[in-house]
Amino acid sequence: MQLFKSKKEKTSEVVVAPQEIPQVKCPKCGKMLDKARVVKRKYVCYECGGYFRVKVPNRIKMVADPHTFEPWFAESEIGNPLNYEGYEDKIKEAREKTGLDEAVTVGRCKVFGEDIVLGVCDSRFMMASMGHTVGEKITATIERAIEERLPVFLFCCSGGARMQEGIVSLMQMAKTSAAIQKMGEAGLLYCTVLTDPTTGGVTASFAMLGDVIMAEPGALIGFAGPRVIRQTIGQELPKGFQTAEFLLEHGFVDGIVKRENLKKTIYFLVKAHQCKDGEYGNFVTNEEYHFVLSEILKEKSWKTPDKNAWEKVKAVRKVERPSAVDYMDHIFDYFVEAHGDRGFRDDPAIVSGIGFLDGKPVTVVAEHKGKTMKECKERNYGMPMPEGYRKALRVMKQAEKFHRPIVCFVNTPGAFCGMEAEERGMGESIARNLMEMSALKVPVLCILIGEGGSGGALATAVGNEVWMLENATYSILSPEGFASILWKDSARAQEASEIMGITAQDLKRLGIIEQIVPEFGGADETTAGAIGGYLKENIKKFLESYDGTGGEEIAKQRYDRFRRF
Ligand SMILES: [Zn+2]
Repeated sequence: MQLFKSKKEKTSEVVVAPQEIPQVKCPKCGKMLDKARVVKRKYVCYECGGYFRVKVPNRIKMVADPHTFEPWFAESEIGNPLNYEGYEDKIKEAREKTGLDEAVTVGRCKVFGEDIVLGVCDSRFMMASMGHTVGEKITATIERAIEERLPVFLFCCSGGARMQEGIVSLMQMAKTSAAIQKMGEAGLLYCTVLTDPTTGGVTASFAMLGDVIMAEPGALIGFAGPRVIRQTIGQELPKGFQTAEFLLEHGFVDGIVKRENLKKTIYFLVKAHQCKDGEYGNFVTNEEYHFVLSEILKEKSWKTPDKNAWEKVKAVRKVERPSAVDYMDHIFDYFVEAHGDRGFRDDPAIVSGIGFLDGKPVTVVAEHKGKTMKECKERNYGMPMPEGYRKALRVMKQAEKFHRPIVCFVNTPGAFCGMEAEERGMGESIARNLMEMSALKVPVLCILIGEGGSGGALATAVGNEVWMLENATYSILSPEGFASILWKDSARAQEASEIMGITAQDLKRLGIIEQIVPEFGGADETTAGAIGGYLKENIKKFLESYDGTGGEEIAKQRYDRFRRF
């Protein structure tokens, strides 16, 4: 018996219609479809967009370069540790039905020429439940991947533990998790793709332990499946509960990846994890790209009107002021977003992920306020919650593990003030970031692009260098708050702003920042490209300056930088 059992047989059945065009029934909308068209669309319904479950050979075709898949551990023996009656026959039956030896198939292949280890679970084989053989194949695969120093991508689906094997099946959870720990210690990339359905013991072990966790749209993912919850505590789950989308919102998956983008995403992830300690500026040279913009900029004489501190405070609060995302468009060729803190929720106030800077992967953390009223609300006006800072730390620790430099774009009025934030430990989350960031063994560059509000800004601003845009501000608290605390009169905010020393020019003078980034007349949509271009060239120079510098030395430099204050 498996934990998860679908009511209807969801796998597709090929039916030959009278006109002899092979047809297939959509598992979601139930319509009869032209099979060839469905196959062409990677088993996605052309009527409703619903996803078909994918058999092992088809999944391999979708991901691996043609004829590159070389299977590993393909011949497994049938074990029956509890001597459960009829179990061997059931496995034999599944083998005949699927042509597979077990519920997981593993091997080595190429993805756009890059070597990876690929594992694919198949729900047709006893609901892809995890028995000794599945656990053994996954563990042996990870061990071999460590020996051959290859990244692992595992397509998961499962009904859970294999009940016929009892406690032996349960032990596979600990065994596979321990192997993944070893993979991490070896500094190698382990990623999972959660497909429909991924439930039970698999979610409590190898499925949820990816450095990057992806999911297919609409996939059912949960520890206890809907039927188990209903039978155990009589609770009916709401619609949409335990879907991939639900998990994304709650911070447990990095992103939902459409089938058409899967192979490309895997390729970029492989490329993004090939950095080495002490190699931070080895860019892919790109002659065409070579900064035509800087040449244009040199010729023009940009006149910047002088703004006083209060004018700057007002200017950086405007929604029209470009956000990190606007600059990122001009800095990075490609960006893969990573969602979630793996504990509570994905905080939309912080955007994080991997950007490619002329082919060089860089981890990016950016507060994002939003552009429209609706988006500002969703992103909480760029005021992170504790889970936002925890997400930021999660991706930064991952950057360190894979020797990837970090760029933080700081732009927040401050950390969110409120009950929820206190309950979830705002102080602790900021403190932990300050402590952990201080010791990161990769270069960290922090750029204040707008508002730098107090501890909420500092929580992602512990860098080897800190830069500020010409009109950005950075302060212990808002001028209103300062005036109300010191003078009991928040109306004197303007006066406060003048004496607080919050402008880039003040901070440069105080030695708090290294560089002032020109705004070419003031940051807005017309200058975002120029500012982005300037940042791109200078970020590259910053990273190149760390070539040949080991991680310990980089962390020491950062420690010394803050030790001075
Ligand atoms: Zn459909």
